[in-house]
Amino acid sequence: MKIEEIIKDLDPLTLLEFKNYLLENLSELIGAKNSNSKIITNNQKGIRYCNKCGCVLYKNGKTKTGIQKYICSGCKHTISETTGTITYCSKLSFNVWQNIIDNLLNGFSIRRIAEENNISIPTSFKLRHKVLLSLNHFIDNIKLSKSAQSDEKYFKINLKGTKPQKMPRYSKKRTSRGNSTRGISHHQVCVISVIDEEDNLFFKIGGLGRGTTKMLEDNISSHLGDVKIITSDSASAYQEFCRNHNIKLIAIPSHFHSDDIHNIAEINGVHSQLETWLSKFRGVSTRHLQQYLNWFAYIFMMKKRFELKKLKLESYKNVIIDNNYIKSNEIFDIPMPIDLNIAYAEYHN
Ligand SMILES: [Zn+2]
Repeated sequence: MKIEEIIKDLDPLTLLEFKNYLLENLSELIGAKNSNSKIITNNQKGIRYCNKCGCVLYKNGKTKTGIQKYICSGCKHTISETTGTITYCSKLSFNVWQNIIDNLLNGFSIRRIAEENNISIPTSFKLRHKVLLSLNHFIDNIKLSKSAQSDEKYFKINLKGTKPQKMPRYSKKRTSRGNSTRGISHHQVCVISVIDEEDNLFFKIGGLGRGTTKMLEDNISSHLGDVKIITSDSASAYQEFCRNHNIKLIAIPSHFHSDDIHNIAEINGVHSQLETWLSKFRGVSTRHLQQYLNWFAYIFMMKKRFELKKLKLESYKNVIIDNNYIKSNEIFDIPMPIDLNIAYAEYHN
């Protein structure tokens, strides 16, 4: 039942009593250990199924801290309400999580998030990555509609935070192929950016060097929805891609942003906003670049859709209710999105 409907039936005296009760107990209520689990219970719809065998899950009492437990009707496997969500195994309550999400929407650094929430820097690092990884799901579900603009943006490879044993090996001797420079080299990470009329925005790391049809196929195809027109530069990659998908391509000759009627000004504007935003972080490692791109796209879209007050709660729901649990040590094992052997090919013997 909606909260407005419950309140509509209350008399003014009860309402006042309710208000006072809330004011007195709010921090305790939202700070309770089971606060995250309650939100998940109220927002998760439909029947829950076992992720081990697929049978229906039944409610099976509560934990000491009041978190709903479930048991599988088939294999008798038990889980709790928060299993599989970002708050699983987390001792932090709703207000801390909400504050961290708010900090992330504001683009705060790891250090600042640690200070604001009284948590250690390693914890802050892990939490930020957990929340950012949970945005993947949101971005993966974007479907483009009507008319879209697309362009590529190139980034330098950044190996920040890569363990020494995982670094590519250099050799002093360079092979002969190393001298070729063809504009955009294979030392640059190609990011494909797309925005549609309804401000759906996403970025995908395509690979190394100039954008290809395969990069577009791998990264845009699943997002096409009912898009009819793509405006982009005149690169052959787009021509082939649009032909394959029966989409009309409006090709803007390179070095022009407009052909008078059509233009890619919007995606170019997004690129310069992105650049400013990323510069705050003083170098983002290529390993985590996709997460930062998703983060930017998420904030961009949410700001277009919700007023500030709603933004926080809406984001909290997006992040907490999803099945996106990741173990802290998995954050360090996120694979490099590019092949360093190709990037540094000329340094190999
Ligand atoms: Zn089962």
